[in-house]
Amino acid sequence: MPAIKSTMMPAPLSLNRLLEHAGRLFPQSQIVSRLPDKSLRRHSYGEWHRRTRALASALKKLGLRKGDRVATLCWNHHAHLECYFGIPAAGGVMHTLNLRLAPDDIGWIAGHARDRFLIVDDILLPLYQKFAAHHRFERVIVFPFSGAPVQVRAGEPHDGEPAIDDYEQLLAQAPADFDYAEHDENDPVAMCYTSGTTGRPKGVVYSHRSTVLHSLMAALPDYVALSARDTVLPVTPMFHANSWGIPYAASMVGAKLVFPGPHLHPEDLLDLMQLEPPTAALGVPTIWLALIQAFEANPGRWKMPAGLRTMVGGAAVPESLIRQFAKHGVSVDQGWGMTETSPMASLFFEKPELVGELSEEQWFARKAMAGVPVPLVETRIMGDDGLCEWNGNDVGELQVRGPFITGSYHDEAPSASNFTDDGWLRTGDVAAIDEHGYIRIADRTKDLIKSGGEWISSVDLENAIMAHPAVAEAAVIAVAHPKWTERPLACVVRKPGASVDADELRKFLGGRFASWQVPDAIEFVDEIPRTSTGKFWKVKLRQRYADWRWPE
Ligand code: ADP
Repeated sequence: MPAIKSTMMPAPLSLNRLLEHAGRLFPQSQIVSRLPDKSLRRHSYGEWHRRTRALASALKKLGLRKGDRVATLCWNHHAHLECYFGIPAAGGVMHTLNLRLAPDDIGWIAGHARDRFLIVDDILLPLYQKFAAHHRFERVIVFPFSGAPVQVRAGEPHDGEPAIDDYEQLLAQAPADFDYAEHDENDPVAMCYTSGTTGRPKGVVYSHRSTVLHSLMAALPDYVALSARDTVLPVTPMFHANSWGIPYAASMVGAKLVFPGPHLHPEDLLDLMQLEPPTAALGVPTIWLALIQAFEANPGRWKMPAGLRTMVGGAAVPESLIRQFAKHGVSVDQGWGMTETSPMASLFFEKPELVGELSEEQWFARKAMAGVPVPLVETRIMGDDGLCEWNGNDVGELQVRGPFITGSYHDEAPSASNFTDDGWLRTGDVAAIDEHGYIRIADRTKDLIKSGGEWISSVDLENAIMAHPAVAEAAVIAVAHPKWTERPLACVVRKPGASVDADELRKFLGGRFASWQVPDAIEFVDEIPRTSTGKFWKVKLRQRYADWRWPE
């Protein structure tokens, strides 16, 4: 048999191609950024393309070498988008630092990644000062986000102090003869650390290839369905798994982008949505919980943008939230993913065999699941006795693999707790998949409650409690119990002006859960602590209630 070879060009998948495509085809598409003083700044894609190449050219002139890490400490705005494409265009690796972490942790992460340069918003310089001694950058490039002049320290770093440059000056003086750094499609473009809820954070490094594939996948009509006619509002911080990869995907298709800057309070977001109505928006559930409460507490003050669809994930999305938004014509599509999975590994859409087949109850129940796996990502459920059937009932660890799933961690030996022998990522999430392929996340392994030898899902309890009309938020944790090993304790935030007590809530849950699953302890609290990515911080709650004493 004569050998046959593919005739296709071996052109590498490249982020630079996406930048060139967007710059050439959509020069008039808009990027709107909210500045610290709440005014809006507009850039066209044409300007963004020119400025991004200028950033890459300036970084090369400053001595950036291939593979050097350039950290960013920035809110969501146009210059951060320039970093997304400009740093890799120069051959560097963008490392988004999480500005909500403790300064010591940010310094540790920057050191572990061996970040060489830092690009920082001027309004975040006080935060930078708090970890500057933990990790010495060679150069600090200050983005004048507030418009105030930058105090430049010209020349080379000396006495351990970095040189300080003005981002806008660098761009203005960048050499015009810029050439993209040569690269292989597997070369790194960006890195991101997990939030380290269990031990030290771990670094995930994305490649040109993984980022391009993830962008193409995300834009598909059954998933995020991004098009040149969309207006996309990424509320998810650009340091949280690259704002779920959406800035890459949205600019690839020429969508208008609206960045909220540092203004993430519900009122600010609702104001922004009136000025620049989005067709697609993304964020963690706590953002949307707070937003819908502000919206409903002020009838007539704002309008929900017509036809808005939201992608919500990063934590379980309560069914009650999906129903609340539906009343206002907004769809909430739940996705599941991790920093390790680029991150979108599943998202809700209605499969054709279900169209017209579901009652309203079934429809919302299905929307409260974590969607179906995206193309190129393989999923399986590993139970105690081996692989589980996709029957909706058999529960085990969710494991994934694919070309945009990490196969290791930066500078860390692979461990059996993270990867299986046959090459799958262990997610640490407990889930079932049904016959249609919809994933139901039961819990994180460490959040499951083991009561008298039976497992209770904290996620199910939280969702049910948050369906009570007087409840704003709820988080359920396991608390050690002398007889039952663990019992659930619910922390509940009432809606302003609403009243409900523990007995009423227990009665409310009684219809939906077996009596042994209903929390014996219900604590009313003013707020539930949040993690650095805005999720309910259950580790903190477990610490708070570690000495909890059950009545004899
Ligand atoms: P961290 O939460 O540690 O900051 P990630 O942002 O990478 O890190 O979060 C990944 C985790 O978030 C998943 O392992 C899972 O536990 C949780 N998660 C993400 N999406 C969902 C979802 N739709 N439902 C329930 N849990 C989710």
